[in-house]
Amino acid sequence: LKLWVPRDSAALALGADAVADALQAECARRGVALELVRNGSRGLLWLEPLVEWAGPQGRMAFGPMEVAEVPSLVDALLHDRPHPLALGLTDAMPYLAQQERLTFARVGLTDPLSTEDYLAHGGLQGLRRALALSAAEVVQEVLHSGLRGRGGAAFPAGIKWRTVATAEAAQKYVVCNADEGDSGTFSDRMVMEGDPFMLIEGLCIAALAVGATQGVIYTRSEYPHAVATLRQAIARTQEQGWLGEDVLGSGRSFHLEVRVGAGSYVCGEETAMLESIEGRRGVVRAKPPLPALQGLFGQPTLIHNVISLASVPLILARGADFYRAYGVGRSLGTLPFQLAGNVRHGGLVEKAFGLTLRQLVFDFGGGTRSGRPVKAIQVGGPLGAYVPESQWDVPLDYEAYAALGATVGHGGVVVHDDSADLAGLARHAMAFCALESCGKCTPCRIGSTRGVEVIDRLVAARDTQVQQQQEVLLRELCDTMQQASLCAMGSMTPYPVLSALNHYPDDFGLRSAASA
Ligand code: SF4
Repeated sequence: LKLWVPRDSAALALGADAVADALQAECARRGVALELVRNGSRGLLWLEPLVEWAGPQGRMAFGPMEVAEVPSLVDALLHDRPHPLALGLTDAMPYLAQQERLTFARVGLTDPLSTEDYLAHGGLQGLRRALALSAAEVVQEVLHSGLRGRGGAAFPAGIKWRTVATAEAAQKYVVCNADEGDSGTFSDRMVMEGDPFMLIEGLCIAALAVGATQGVIYTRSEYPHAVATLRQAIARTQEQGWLGEDVLGSGRSFHLEVRVGAGSYVCGEETAMLESIEGRRGVVRAKPPLPALQGLFGQPTLIHNVISLASVPLILARGADFYRAYGVGRSLGTLPFQLAGNVRHGGLVEKAFGLTLRQLVFDFGGGTRSGRPVKAIQVGGPLGAYVPESQWDVPLDYEAYAALGATVGHGGVVVHDDSADLAGLARHAMAFCALESCGKCTPCRIGSTRGVEVIDRLVAARDTQVQQQQEVLLRELCDTMQQASLCAMGSMTPYPVLSALNHYPDDFGLRSAASA
């Protein structure tokens, strides 16, 4: 028998190791030879642990698997009998079949730590092509692809690459921001655990293009499996000569290491992350200078999040025109959306930009897990706006969402049913900011604490005049935070607060607005 049991954190949390052990014990008991591959997750998280079997027609899925079901599963597979947890051909499952998996094409298919598996599934094609081009041609390819930073800021990647590439310095760095701290997001983790060689290949291409010889992947202590997988993957690529003094025999060098932060949210801000890597407290730096010119240890530094870098091997392997054929407007390519919160079918959905929130949450997500109506959907992490039903048909692209006063961010989608209290969630946004603020600038450090107080007074007020005063105060406070904060922590906290206030005024005890 050939079986796959994921080693992804989500699957492990749901008992994947116990299922793998039980499968091995059951096969040993029956004297059946078992080839067990520990793959990444396919991203259908409500079905984890999702066991796959190499059947005559292809990989067949079974899930969510429990230890108690293992003997009957082995029995069914050996005697060609149906099983109650059978889900059919994995690739034919609508949740997967309707996706456009470019970056996630290999995640869940392969053994994340098998270099043979990686090569057998198109690995290194991007790096080999990059080595055949000049550095300027590689930068041009990324520029032409339309790739924008997938961490949330959506800055054109190629422009950043060109800035670092043309900077004069004896030492340059590439830093991967893998400090995925947004609530409801997990695409970076899934890549690190499910296809780490792709990230390493992307980093290598970026480093060679901009002239960097040293790279750092900065991730968080809450991701122990990702850290362990990355470290093993780096060791294997060094053994294979994909990294080190002589990358694939090119005579070019690139060294890579993993750094683990302690989980401060603001260390996901690029300059606070640099401070942390340099061994200091994660406090945001004022810009300019841009990190592209003076970043890590004061040297030119290319910083990207995991998904941005993981998109690069495919862009080089298939060409920029292939990649930019996906998406809409200036939002080109695909985004791995992450469905979380009160949703029936939570998981990873990679699609080209341009689909709608309604398609994501209902066609893929199947509505709420509670079965109650959806009330609000927060898009783009804890600093993203709550999107009301009137906006669920707006195409998901950076510009369309900016026009709504919302953000696509890192593609995190958190669903709330009609029991959610949006005033409480707005208060939580301010409290979160107060807790996570690095303290460098006043609008964020003081404003967030005042914001909690103002929301408390607004919700407690029974007098219309007091309500109006507090609402005006809250809006002015949000305006100050947006305009005057040094980084996105303070300037974006008003997104969830104002969207809650504008679209769900009833929850604050205010008069209803037509917009909700
Ligand atoms: Fe620090 Fe907040 Fe100011 Fe950002 S906005 S620099 S997190 S105090």
